[in-house]
Amino acid sequence: MNYYPISISRLIRQLCKLPSIGEKSAERLALYLLKAPEEEALELSRCISGLKEKIKVCSKCFALSDNEICEICNDPARDSGLLCVVETPADMIAIEKSGAFTGRYHVLQGLLSPMDGIGPEEIRLKELIQRVDNETIKEVVIATGTNMEGETTASYIAETLSQYPLKISRIASGIPMGGEVKYVDQVTLKKAMEARRDI
Ligand SMILES: [Zn+2]
Repeated sequence: MNYYPISISRLIRQLCKLPSIGEKSAERLALYLLKAPEEEALELSRCISGLKEKIKVCSKCFALSDNEICEICNDPARDSGLLCVVETPADMIAIEKSGAFTGRYHVLQGLLSPMDGIGPEEIRLKELIQRVDNETIKEVVIATGTNMEGETTASYIAETLSQYPLKISRIASGIPMGGEVKYVDQVTLKKAMEARRDI
């Protein structure tokens, strides 16, 4: 039985699809929006539609960006000799929040997983090698997770880049085995970045 007018029950149905929002929370949010000032509800709807229209992927590092090149790639204060390789934009944001890294990033948009048919061509590895070829990178910090795919990818990158005259390091200490970077707390991540070791 439908207790709400259609326009409210439609909103509740959509809100229910969001992670960690159950039906009760969705109802509460929908009723809140109904009571909220019109401008507040409109701004929320504009943010949601803008998310799909305006967010791009940085053409250099493949992080999420408002522009063709993201703010971090464009920031002259960032150490251009230091490149941190991560799996997803969420991992990059987790490391940024830890405040332990001053270089730039490269988002692989995936990890090698031979069992699932994901090879080097399916992730942004070719682009990583191009960056190492074209930029003056002194150290590549591999910050993939410690699960099997993360370790496989780290080894592959270390081996592929071993012919280049640069330091290759890996963050690991403090990250639990099988752990994903984005779920690690900021203090642990800061320590893991500071205690990165050569591979
Ligand atoms: Zn970028």
